Amino acid sequence: MNNKFRKILLMVDMLALASLVFTACLDVSKLEEKPTTDDGICTSHTYGEWTYSEGFDCYLGGSKTHKCTACGEEETVTVEKKAEHTPDEAGYCKICGALNGLDLVLNSAETEYTVATFWGNAVDIVLPSTYNGLPITRIGMNSFGKSSMKSIVIPDTVRRIEESAFHTCLELEAVTVGNGVTIIVDNAFQNCPKLKKVVMGNSVTDIGNGVFYGCASLSDITISQSIKRIGNNLFNGCSSLTEFTIPDGVTSVGPYAFASCISLESVYIPDSVTGIGAFAFSDCRKLSDVKLPSDLKQISPNTFSKCYSLAGITLPETLVGIGNYAFADCTMLYEIKLPNSVINLGVYAFSNCTNLKNVTFSNQITSIPVKAFTNCSALDGITIPASVSRIYASAFEGCTGLETVYYGGSGDFWSVVAVEENNDPLHNATITKAPDGK
Ligand SMILES: [Zn+2]
Ligand SMILES: [Zn+2]
Repeated sequence: MNNKFRKILLMVDMLALASLVFTACLDVSKLEEKPTTDDGICTSHTYGEWTYSEGFDCYLGGSKTHKCTACGEEETVTVEKKAEHTPDEAGYCKICGALNGLDLVLNSAETEYTVATFWGNAVDIVLPSTYNGLPITRIGMNSFGKSSMKSIVIPDTVRRIEESAFHTCLELEAVTVGNGVTIIVDNAFQNCPKLKKVVMGNSVTDIGNGVFYGCASLSDITISQSIKRIGNNLFNGCSSLTEFTIPDGVTSVGPYAFASCISLESVYIPDSVTGIGAFAFSDCRKLSDVKLPSDLKQISPNTFSKCYSLAGITLPETLVGIGNYAFADCTMLYEIKLPNSVINLGVYAFSNCTNLKNVTFSNQITSIPVKAFTNCSALDGITIPASVSRIYASAFEGCTGLETVYYGGSGDFWSVVAVEENNDPLHNATITKAPDGK
């Protein structure tokens, strides 16, 4: 055997030995026994856990490093893009920490991300503020719709929450809106029946229509003081809301804004409000405390219909019109004074106000419309001003308690007042006319 061949055989022996050592090293309990060469470098390293590069995301790839537990040598390898995360029980990736199921879209300028969809199963979500070094600025239309999370914290980088972003999240209980959000678009949280608490800063300048429509558990909401309107249907069906203060600066309350808030007891409407839409407080069965803004000109149709607990309300001296059914079925309403600014009264305006006892008319009213006071059975006396020339059909139909009518004009004038059909209570009452015919 020549020398060279002998050397080769020796190397083969050493390789066999190394392989034996490597096999032994797989047994964690024998790590300390692992031999090193004279210069302290392992013949075979025993690596610890991988550490991923800064900002590593499974979707983007990157690099990972691990270190030998015996000699400290590091090894870094490239990790290719991967189509999925490895979520833990809370829904966050065990490898990169990202929220599993969050699909983000980069804008065309490549400066920011929008949440496009969420399909993960995380329960308590803290939405990240950045991705791949860029801010997440929008929560896209429908993105979280019908998800099953219980809570979400929206970061300050988000500026817009788009339409229906969180609609029908049946388990959602708590939302924290980031301090960078300026716009919450229509129906964003519509039909989240367990949503109880919403925290919102003053960065929000606009909340769209129907944003909390049907949130039947909503009882604790801090709303931005910077908004200028209460949108249509904003709190429609929020049956757990017991009180609400509309921020100063709001100028309009949309139709159905608080409709069917059946637990709402008191609402503060600031003087900045100049318009209140139809049905805005309809079916607020417990509403007993409401002060109207001092410059209000119109009460829209059905605004307070079916407010079964409303015993009294002061109408502002600027009021010109009261819409159809405005106070219909307010069965606790005891007294109403129409200021002299009121010119128009709608049909059925006070119909079925069965507890209404005292009515003071405006001296500008020229007619009493159809069914205006029908079934106001507690009404025992009224004063009809001389300005009235027509009493429409059924205006006082069913006013079974009516005994006395004081007419502000003379007997001659009363004789030309047109009283249409189905006003028997008026005919049966004792009519007293003003002696001087004024
Ligand atoms: Zn080593
Ligand atoms: Zn991941």
